[in-house]
Amino acid sequence: MSKGGVFVVSGPSGSGKDTVLKGLFAENPDILFSISSITRAMRPGEREGEKYNFISREHFEEMIKNDLLLEHNVFVGNYYGTPRIPVEKAVSEGRDIIIEVDVNGAAQIRKKLPEAVTVFIMPPSFEELKRRLVGRGTESEELIEKRLRSALDEIKRAEEYDYIIVNDDAAAASQSLMSVIKACRLKTERQKNIINEVLEKC
Ligand code: 5GP
Repeated sequence: MSKGGVFVVSGPSGSGKDTVLKGLFAENPDILFSISSITRAMRPGEREGEKYNFISREHFEEMIKNDLLLEHNVFVGNYYGTPRIPVEKAVSEGRDIIIEVDVNGAAQIRKKLPEAVTVFIMPPSFEELKRRLVGRGTESEELIEKRLRSALDEIKRAEEYDYIIVNDDAAAASQSLMSVIKACRLKTERQKNIINEVLEKC
């Protein structure tokens, strides 16, 4: 069986990447999502085990110590990390998996898994990003300010990615992301068994 693909998706808070990913998963339920372990407080509307596992700092540090994380980072004072085993399992079972991480997490994954394909979701403008963050209304002014500063730093590093998708229309951006995944599925290294299957019958 050929291996599954690892797709790393980043984009600053307010880039709309959650909506883009939701659209993609609604149409492509065969694709897996890597559920991150994080230590920040749950926001209204979030559910345990959906996008994140909300764990204590002690539990997170235990995971680091036991080498259970593919990558991890501190973002606005909280730990965020990608559990390693579900990603390895997906790849070995030939399933595609999307890992949503910040730019530092993406850099760590690139080093460990050079075959991972990285995609940056870009907001159409900084004004729009600000409007989306403020409009969310779930965080303090100070936290929004921190997220905006961090967004600027992330956008400056977008050139490290294999692909950039501008999210001015979430449905179109989901389609673009799916096009990247479809193109990767056609790569020769993922289809080596087809060559043998055809040759076996000649
Ligand atoms: P939020 O608190 O808005 O849900 O996420 C904050 C940032 O953390 C976002 O840029 C998001 O992509 C990133 N993030 C989410 N999960 C992970 C993870 O497992 N590892 C890392 N490094 N970043 C993550």
